[in-house]
Amino acid sequence: MTAENESTPGLREQVAGASDYLAGESPNIVPHGPVWRQALADATEAIRRGWHVFPIGRAKLPAIRSPHRDDPPGTPKCRGECGRPGHGVHDATDDEQRLAELFATAPHATGYGIACGRGPLPLLGVDLDRKNGVDGVASLRALADEHGFTIEPTTAIATPSGGWHLWFTGPADARVPNSAGKLGPGIDVRGYGGYLVGPGSWTSRGVYRFAEPHPVAPIPTALLDLIVPAPLPRRTVTVGRTRSAALTGLVKYVLDSREGQRNERLYWAAQTAFKEGRQRGIAPQAITGAMAEAAALIGLSESEARHTIESAYKSRNAR
Ligand SMILES: [Zn+2]
Repeated sequence: MTAENESTPGLREQVAGASDYLAGESPNIVPHGPVWRQALADATEAIRRGWHVFPIGRAKLPAIRSPHRDDPPGTPKCRGECGRPGHGVHDATDDEQRLAELFATAPHATGYGIACGRGPLPLLGVDLDRKNGVDGVASLRALADEHGFTIEPTTAIATPSGGWHLWFTGPADARVPNSAGKLGPGIDVRGYGGYLVGPGSWTSRGVYRFAEPHPVAPIPTALLDLIVPAPLPRRTVTVGRTRSAALTGLVKYVLDSREGQRNERLYWAAQTAFKEGRQRGIAPQAITGAMAEAAALIGLSESEARHTIESAYKSRNAR
C-alpha cells in the first residue's frame, strides 16, 4: 500500500460517496444499472488502494457462475487455471481492465468482494457480529484486556446487521487462516482464501459502508499470535524415503533424550540403526542424516553429533 492509499481524504470521500448512495433506499436493481455501476466504481477505487477485488451479488456471493458447474463429479478442482472467470475469490484482481471484464460478465453484480491475504501487505478482516445476543465487539474487548493488547484506530466497515469489520494488514509471510468463533463468540477472522464485502456494496440486507475512515493499521502482534498458533516444536524427523518403522523408533529414542543422556542415546541409536540398516538396505547416508537432524533438535552441536554418529558407524560391527 502506498502512502497515497492510506491518505484520509480519499477515505472521507468514499464515506461521503457511500452516504449519498444510501439515500436511495430501494435501489432499482437492473443489469448494468446504477447499482452495478456504483459497485464497479467502488471496486475500482479499492484496486487503487492496493486491494484485489471481484464482483459479488446481493447474497454476498460471487456474482459469476462457475464455468465448471456441469463438470462431471471427480473433476480436479480448478482455481482459475482454466483462464475463465467464475472461480469466486480466485477471480480477485488488482488490474482495472480485468476488473471491468469481470463486471461485464456479471451484469447482476451489486457489490464487490475484497480478497484477504494477498499481496505484500495482506488484508486481514476481523468480523465482529452483533446479533442474536452475541456481541463480537465486546468479545474482542475482553480478548484485548485478557491478553494485554490495544486495538489501534483502523478502517472499520459497518455491516447492515449492526456488526463491524475491522481491517488490518498482516505480515507478508503469514498465511493467516480463516476462522469462525474461534477467538471468541461473534469473532470471525478472514484470512488467506477468504474475502470481505467491500464498502459501498449493496446486499439484500443493506449496504456495507465505511464507518471509521482511518488508515488500515497493522494487526496487533498479540492478536496475530492468537489467530496463528505458534508452530509446535518440530519433533519429527523424516528418514529419507525409507519409512522404516525401526529407524523411526530409534529417532524418537534420540528425541526423547534428557539432558545428560543425549550423546549416549544418540550413540546407541545410531549404532543400532547402522546395524539394522545394513540388513534392511537403508543407506548409511539416510541414517546419518536422520540422526544428525534428531541431534540438532535436541540441542547437540553439529560437530558433537557428527563425532558421535561417526563413532557409532565405526563400531557398528562391535556389538
Ligand atoms: Zn476453471
